[in-house]
Amino acid sequence: MKKEITCIVCPMGCRMTAEICPDGPKVTGNTCRRGVDYAVAELTAPTRTVTSTVRLSGGGSVSVKTREPIAKDKIFDLMRILRTATADAPVRIGDMILSDVFGTDIVATAEAGKEA
Ligand code: SF4
Repeated sequence: MKKEITCIVCPMGCRMTAEICPDGPKVTGNTCRRGVDYAVAELTAPTRTVTSTVRLSGGGSVSVKTREPIAKDKIFDLMRILRTATADAPVRIGDMILSDVFGTDIVATAEAGKEA
């Protein structure tokens, strides 16, 4: 089955049509090879980098993201985990908040919980 896919690998945002055929993937509309790789991954094992927030122990929250993309079908499970997680303040950009969640770490993307 053909699928319309917008490549998000670079800002050009090529609109592609992709399908997996018996003799291999068929991708059109891509400007470069990276588009083919992205389209095949979208058809076979789509992944996403997830951004969210985690509560801080002293109140407030900190912005976080997955260090690496995770399987798209694990996003809701990850959000459930992040909803109940708590980080110790203060937090600096790049601090690991949770380790090895669906094969990646959750890291802070902002400073938070600084003392006045
Ligand atoms: S196919 Fe290549 S040029 Fe087009 S958006 Fe993807 S990476 Fe960029």
